[in-house]
Amino acid sequence: MKKTELSLETKTVQGLGWFDGDTHSLAPPIYPSTTFLRNEDLSYHNDVKYTRSDNPTYNQVSRLLAELENGYSSQLFSSGMAAAVAIFQALKKGDHIVLPQGVYGGTRHWANKYLINWGIDVSYIPDGDASALSSALISGKTKLVWIETPSNPNWNITDIKSFSEMAHAAGSMVICDNTIATPVLTKPIDFGADIVLHSATKYLNGHGDVLMGVLITESDNEHWQIIKRIAHDGGALPGSFESWLLLRGIRTLYVRMERINKNAMVIAEFLQSHPKVKAVYYPGLCSFPGHDVAKKQMNGGFGGMISIRLGNKESAVKLQGKTNIFRRATSLGTVESLIEHRASYEGAGSPVPDDLIRLSIGIERVDDLIMDLEQALKDT
Ligand SMILES: *Cc1c(COP(=O)(O)O)cnc(C)c1O
Repeated sequence: MKKTELSLETKTVQGLGWFDGDTHSLAPPIYPSTTFLRNEDLSYHNDVKYTRSDNPTYNQVSRLLAELENGYSSQLFSSGMAAAVAIFQALKKGDHIVLPQGVYGGTRHWANKYLINWGIDVSYIPDGDASALSSALISGKTKLVWIETPSNPNWNITDIKSFSEMAHAAGSMVICDNTIATPVLTKPIDFGADIVLHSATKYLNGHGDVLMGVLITESDNEHWQIIKRIAHDGGALPGSFESWLLLRGIRTLYVRMERINKNAMVIAEFLQSHPKVKAVYYPGLCSFPGHDVAKKQMNGGFGGMISIRLGNKESAVKLQGKTNIFRRATSLGTVESLIEHRASYEGAGSPVPDDLIRLSIGIERVDDLIMDLEQALKDT
């Protein structure tokens, strides 16, 4: 077959092949300007007026994100949470939504603290449980079904295609938080999701130095226009410098993910065979309950997130205290590997078991990472 379309890998590396029309610079400029010169006839050059509406530094990375997710368009936000909140703010009093129990801790916290006060009904279902979804859906009243796959920190898998079909049949939209899988592994819109959410803070930027979020829509519609208005009216937008850094970081997304997938698979297998580790949660393991669905909707690997259970809190805390190469820090998706006792980070009320340790696998040499875990596990 003759190849006619440029691959997304190449487009991503080349930042969509952009160059500056005036200077022919390949790296894009940063436009710190918040305001833009108006013409005598009241019009604006390229319709750019004020940065809360638009800034030229947003354009390239915003278009690339839409392409990466096979979407129609994207909207940048100042954080992943700002993107999640914009989705909630587009709801109306009396609406009903379905969240998975394993939804990101910040999203769960937000829904429980604020959404309920706004007169929005929230149902929680076990991650990926189709019969629980079927009982939770209220035709005409359910406006949003939230999918997160793999979900944090048990990495449970949800079948995006079957969930989307069920939600659409009940008249509900589907939003998929794709932060963990990244568009390299899964493109939720291809499986029926209406909107994809990313904390770009994580894998998309990949270097732990940008806080940003993005929503990508499958098509233009009334709901999307409301979200765009919320971004503009609420103003939770990134600075031009952050947008520039995200474009720089995302260029290496495919190579980072390739290395991360390989490293994580080797480490998950090492951990599974270690006598001190009671359980390993990683979708790439054949023994993992969601493995078959993960294989169907994750392409080229199973990502970089692994959790392990040590049997008791004391051993878990000891383990994270003894690593030298894994850095003791929250967050995920950075080039360096991170280790976290998740329950104590989430605090009181967290559903995360206190013997669980979460690992975010980076792009270091895998034998260095295994050496570190081996010595830390020795006297745990
Ligand atoms: C980090 C994260 C978020 C929130 O993103 P921020 O950029 O920290 O606001 C949302 N969803 C998932 C899955 C995350 O890991």
